[in-house]
Amino acid sequence: MSAFDVDLLVIGGGSGGVRAARMAAGRGARVALAEARGLEGLGGTCVTLGCIPKKLYSYAAHYSEAFAESAGYGWSLPEAPRFDWATLKARRAAEISRLNSVYANLLKNSGVTVLMGFARLEGPHQVCVRAADGSEQRISAERILIATGGTPFVPHFQGSDLVHTSDAMFDLPTFPQRLLVVGGGYIACEFASIFNGLGAQVTQLYRGEQVLRGFDDEVRHFVAAEMGKHGVDLRLNSDVVEIHRTASGLQVRLASGDTLTVDAVLYATGRKPLVHGLGLEALGVAQGAQGEVLVNERYQTNVPSVYALGDVTNRVQLTPVALGEAMVLVDDLFGPPAGKAARQMSYDLIPTAVFTHPNIGTVGLGEEQAKARGHRVSVFRSEFKALKHTLSGSTERTLMKLVVDADTDRVLGVHMVGAEAGEIVQGFAVALKAGATKAVFDSTIGIHPTAAEEFVTMREAVR
Ligand code: FAD
Ligand code: NDP
Repeated sequence: MSAFDVDLLVIGGGSGGVRAARMAAGRGARVALAEARGLEGLGGTCVTLGCIPKKLYSYAAHYSEAFAESAGYGWSLPEAPRFDWATLKARRAAEISRLNSVYANLLKNSGVTVLMGFARLEGPHQVCVRAADGSEQRISAERILIATGGTPFVPHFQGSDLVHTSDAMFDLPTFPQRLLVVGGGYIACEFASIFNGLGAQVTQLYRGEQVLRGFDDEVRHFVAAEMGKHGVDLRLNSDVVEIHRTASGLQVRLASGDTLTVDAVLYATGRKPLVHGLGLEALGVAQGAQGEVLVNERYQTNVPSVYALGDVTNRVQLTPVALGEAMVLVDDLFGPPAGKAARQMSYDLIPTAVFTHPNIGTVGLGEEQAKARGHRVSVFRSEFKALKHTLSGSTERTLMKLVVDADTDRVLGVHMVGAEAGEIVQGFAVALKAGATKAVFDSTIGIHPTAAEEFVTMREAVR
């Protein structure tokens, strides 16, 4: 019998923490998990303030296109559709509460002890959990896993206290008819599309040449143009100097000298690791420049009994990555499931989607990245109006692109901007993991009539 209260104490009930706790308990380990936000925190950022509510709001926003496009298919609506923000918020809140309870039950049924409270490291094997009522509980653990995620970062400037982060956007008391979104990453582009679709007049400011740095350049330009067609007023090379509250709204002065008046400002300027109050410094846990917990390839910190994974390590901030890391760690610490080999985490070929309107789906290298890595590339590209829009009246266009190694014929990247791009690219990610060549794509029979079939019918390289 171990001298510790538990074999594993997980700090944080988000994507990575819950998965690690459940899997470890399933291997027979004695596991406790501390979650600072109580029941509402179970599931973490993804469930409460990220992926899930965001996608629900994206679905809500897509209805405005569907209503507008239905006339081309013979539908007439009895009256102009009206959107009710309060209804959407209430229905989202009920669904998220349901999911929080599902997570609580999953943990309970796996035999994990859930401690509702804020955890602080007091020693290499000791954690103090402070509950909302101020009571404290000390637990000793053979191993401690930090899975505390991240929190939005907002730069400091005159009026920065007047802006919102994505955390607040899901529950704004009143719907912002005029919204300014600052940033050019995932959250800024997704929220600009969502609020535009829900009926707000959206201006998006990005400080650089084009949004979504790191994605394939053609994809970036294409999605920016499509978002513009949908109504987002995207202003590049643009930044905020100061914000003041006035009788007519928030007055935003830009570096260009222009002024905007809006009802709300969303700053989506990145996230930083959530490590405040964890006691890392006192214990000597090594951290990087952003405060991220530094780990080796086994997710172990410089304090051997302390591990970390997910957003708090500030690497790839995606839920499936945190889940994957958790499963690899548990296999390593407690052994793989009976009859299976220990899982390995590969950071290559991580597929991702940006739920802009239209969506981006992407896996592998962009054209510029492939060239920068020394590949001689052939580019296959198709841009078209989706069949649906031949009657819908929408001017939305779809982009599909394959980046191929001209020497080996390996497909290095699959990129799409268009409806359900995330759904489509997930399957192609499997093909790329399997090392598919362009010849394999060419020998695959398409599914007709779909947009996805374009990926297996692009014959001539454009570059
Ligand atoms: P989290 O899920 O953030 O969980 C950390 C948990 O730790 C939290 O519940 C927190 O309350 C708790 N905690 C923190 N400190 C303490 C402490 N000291 N004691 C106890 N508990 C503590 N990813 C995708 O893959 N797809 C998407 O579509 C997507 N959309 C997103 C949209 C938004 C608006 C945001 C913000 C993120 C989105 N993400 C998306 C990213 C995804 O949510 C994160 O990558 C993922 O949640 C990271 O999981 P994690 O376990 O590392 O941390
Ligand atoms: P990102 O890192 O994706 O984007 C941050 C944006 O803010 C960039 O455009 C950046 O510009 C800009 N920025 C940073 N600092 C400043 C500043 N001081 N002033 C003005 N602009 C600034 O972060 P997000 O907050 O959008 O999202 C965090 C992470 O969450 C994502 O990276 C992603 O991993 C995850 N996520 C995933 C989603 C999905 O899977 N669909 C959806 C939402 C989030 P620059 O490029 O010039 O540095």
